[in-house]
Amino acid sequence: MSTGKKLRKMVMKYRDRESIEKDIEKAKEEVFKQNKNPEEYEDVVVHGYMVYECRDCGTVYKMWLEKGLEDRVQDKEYPDKHKPVPFGIRCKCGSFNCTHILWGVGDRDEYEALRKGESYFKNDPDQRCGTPVLRKSLRNRQQLLYSQFAEDKE
Ligand SMILES: [Zn+2]
Repeated sequence: MSTGKKLRKMVMKYRDRESIEKDIEKAKEEVFKQNKNPEEYEDVVVHGYMVYECRDCGTVYKMWLEKGLEDRVQDKEYPDKHKPVPFGIRCKCGSFNCTHILWGVGDRDEYEALRKGESYFKNDPDQRCGTPVLRKSLRNRQQLLYSQFAEDKE
């Protein structure tokens, strides 16, 4: 690659990075402006989640999506900024056989703050794909089902 081309690539990468960071900051301002209990939330803006299940140990993760990842609101406006998340992640048990299940469950087009302790995909400007941050998990699918009903009652 020529030096000019290399330089242009570096500048492009820098611009992408800057615009991702700016987008996230802007969404944070809006979401946290209307947040009543800031101490219950992390400094992260998400829009829904995807469910992942480990085929080896059965553990289920609700993986919240940070703004800019699989982001249909953003994709409509800037399709070239589309950024995916991995189909499979590494479970806490060590297995890589932990994949996206229940497609469509958790789709949400509204931005909100991430509750403390939840698992999520981080939008790291240096990565092409969402980075999994594993924290809270559910024992299995059945526990996920129960937790959904508990949420409905709130
Ligand atoms: Zn596992």
